Amino acid sequence: MSADVLVIGAGPTGCALGTYLARKGVKVTLLEAVEKPESVVGESMLPGSGPIFDELGFDTTGFLVKHGAVFCQDGGSVRFDFKEAEDQRHTHAWQVQREVFDLRWRDVATRAGCEIVYGKAIRADVPGKTLHTTVGALSAGRIVDTGGRTMWLSSTLGLRVGDPKLKNSAIGTRCRGVKMLAPDEPGDITICCIEGGWIWIIPFGDGVASVGVVMSPASPLRGTAEERFAAAVASSPDATARLADAERIFPFRGLSDFTATSTSFHGEGFALCGDAATFIDPVFSSGVLLGLHGARGLAAALTGSAAEEAALDAWQAEYREGAGIFRKVIDHWYAGDFMTLALAPRELQKPYFRRGIVSLLAGDVYRTGATASRLMADRMPTLARAVRSSSLGA
Ligand SMILES: Cc1cc2nc3c(=O)[nH]c(=O)nc-3n(C[C@H](O)[C@H](O)[C@H](O)COP(=O)(O)OP(=O)(O)OC[C@H]3O[C@@H](n4cnc5c(N)ncnc54)[C@H](O)[C@@H]3O)c2cc1C
Repeated sequence: MSADVLVIGAGPTGCALGTYLARKGVKVTLLEAVEKPESVVGESMLPGSGPIFDELGFDTTGFLVKHGAVFCQDGGSVRFDFKEAEDQRHTHAWQVQREVFDLRWRDVATRAGCEIVYGKAIRADVPGKTLHTTVGALSAGRIVDTGGRTMWLSSTLGLRVGDPKLKNSAIGTRCRGVKMLAPDEPGDITICCIEGGWIWIIPFGDGVASVGVVMSPASPLRGTAEERFAAAVASSPDATARLADAERIFPFRGLSDFTATSTSFHGEGFALCGDAATFIDPVFSSGVLLGLHGARGLAAALTGSAAEEAALDAWQAEYREGAGIFRKVIDHWYAGDFMTLALAPRELQKPYFRRGIVSLLAGDVYRTGATASRLMADRMPTLARAVRSSSLGA
């Protein structure tokens, strides 16, 4: 069996890539290890993915609409609404159960003409362009790994580099009976800060929510997943109040050391996209957005009129630049600057200040002309220092 492009992984990145390529007449095979998508992490979408959902005809029916995000720390809380963002084209996003979301992405890809083969990649001959899989050898003009954060091809080719500053781990589950409390609006994601980490609450409607804890190496939490989860919730008055009557309805899933990138996203006969190329800490729910924009750019580079090598270099530079904005803000998050600004007294919050934060939360990092998010990423530490010395308004 031979395709023009063989994509490893039919997650959102792989399906978006396959769809863009197939629409340009490229013969695409998606190799997917798991027949029935699972309830994996990556459940909170950003408005910045909206244009790609629209372009590819992604059906959002039934997903809870998300209008903003709430951040809490020691009983103080603040809500940001996407309506305050610089980009007004998409002022909402969705909270998605991944077992449904991923299946819909596969439908999008199949409708566009991609073939999905179920099997697992086990060895790649690159640049020979042959992939050895559990269902035999597959060949293609190019192999693209979109197989997620195991970064299989990147690791195999010696391109993967871990992030020395971010060695976090996470545990997540789903709960029933989760309450909304002011200032939460229906559909908001809630992030509760705790010592050495943070808790996410992503609602799906009817009191059911994905709940998880991200822990830095400095986290004092120890013990089993159950013990760490309970201690994390108990250490946050904001999470405790929202989860007071909640019961866990899913087993815990654990993840660790998930921030990494690749020294190159492409080479002779191969490319890497989505988490398989680069993944940064999930605090700003940026993973799917980065994967989708990476996929759109990669498809354009492979099917455009520019010389392929130059087009791929330009794609990689643009893809890294958007991811780099989030990477910068994640450092500001763990330095405490984000929450200093977020919880600053209203009289210190200038309109550009909230617009910058909301534009970042909306994922406005790839739009031509996006300035609010870039400026905020650069100026956050200075603004936070000014808030700490209460001199911002002076
Ligand atoms: C704790 C945590 C919380 C997160 N929360 C969010 C969030 O709220 N919002 C958000 O946008 N992102 C979030 N993310 C990130 C998000 O999960 C990913 O960025 C997103 O799923 C990436 O999509 P992808 O298509 O690149 O990879 P994946 O979604 O991982 O899809 C990869 C696909 O490849 C298949 N595959 C893997 N290996 C092989 C193989 N060898 N052969 C064949 N198939 C294979 C898999 O079965 C899967 O279907 C979070 C991440 C973490 C760690």
